[in-house]
Amino acid sequence: MKVPYRDLRVTSEELRVDLLDAVDRVLRHGRLLLGPEVEHFEEMVAAACHRRFAVGVGSGTQALYLALRALEVGPGDEVVTTPMSWISTMNAIVLTGARPVFADIRHDLNIDPEKIIEAVTPDTKVILPVHFTGRMCQMAQIMDIAHSEGLHVVEDAAQAFGAMQNDKPAGSYGHLGCFSMNTMKMFSSYGEAGAIVLNDRTLCDRLLSLRYNGTVNKEDCHEVGINARIDTLQAAMMIGAFPYLEAKTAAFIAAAARYTTELSDLVDCPPLDGSHHIYYTYTITTPHRDLLHNFLVEHGIESKIYHPILMPYHTAYRNKYLGLDIPVATKMVKRILCLPNHDQLSDDQISYVIETIKKFFDDRKMQRNSVIT
Ligand SMILES: *Cc1c(COP(=O)(O)O)cnc(C)c1O
Repeated sequence: MKVPYRDLRVTSEELRVDLLDAVDRVLRHGRLLLGPEVEHFEEMVAAACHRRFAVGVGSGTQALYLALRALEVGPGDEVVTTPMSWISTMNAIVLTGARPVFADIRHDLNIDPEKIIEAVTPDTKVILPVHFTGRMCQMAQIMDIAHSEGLHVVEDAAQAFGAMQNDKPAGSYGHLGCFSMNTMKMFSSYGEAGAIVLNDRTLCDRLLSLRYNGTVNKEDCHEVGINARIDTLQAAMMIGAFPYLEAKTAAFIAAAARYTTELSDLVDCPPLDGSHHIYYTYTITTPHRDLLHNFLVEHGIESKIYHPILMPYHTAYRNKYLGLDIPVATKMVKRILCLPNHDQLSDDQISYVIETIKKFFDDRKMQRNSVIT
């Protein structure tokens, strides 16, 4: 049996028709740049995130970069973030001219609020937590720290659209919340897209200007910006896909529930707290990661390591961030493994993944934390 990590084909006939209708409508009206669907999309995203405004952009990377720019983050400033994320998070900070400062994670793979407090200096301007794997950070605690230190919070919620904590969705806690909507993400476009959500009208106007080269009235450039507009076609297709999102998310959560129920004796599984975790990736941790990864791949199961390199240790940043005190991230990055988790997995495929992992441990007569010999 083959189990792909993701399956991006649109197999629902109903959804396919809705998407084609959306494209057809845009082709007919011809307003391909910032057409009426963009505003409609922004209203939909803002409402879903319990926020007043949303600004559609071309990617999650652009969302993060522009959110920091709107807060006037630049050279001389520090942004406290996690070492464990997709490199985009760090690149966005560095592109503003600010310096990323890394606070270690907890065993749940998210930034440790206690370590944020230790990382804050007089130059700190923003705390940038990442809801890694689709599981929300300790947001109440992080917001308390930000308030007492006078800092802004930008949530990197790229992996967490739809996750909730204390009835508040991902993206609704920070001053700004950033989403990626690329094809891999939970609320996904059919290519590249992203959005920033917020309540402050002045910041929103600033973002609208920054996403179109810093122009006012689309003519005069008031500050240096980039072109980061979302395509009308992507916005239109996402409006078409939105009614299907709840069922899609529920399928991810259901697959995760089966894995956790069946595998918790063998590997460390994400807990079944379906409220604040949408299991965008179903990431287990085990000291036997590399052996298990190879075993699964040999058995046709496409498991992935997201991501094998901590952000400050990428080649572009090598030797620039020495002596970091991030022991938990350093340990966990060698243990993380993402199992196939998507809405097109069959029950049989999930069973096969579970049986194959059980066989791996049985064959070796290994316990969950036994030492590799
Ligand atoms: C995907 C992702 C991004 C970047 O989004 P793009 O749309 O690919 O630019 C940023 N942060 C995290 C945590 C992500 O997973």
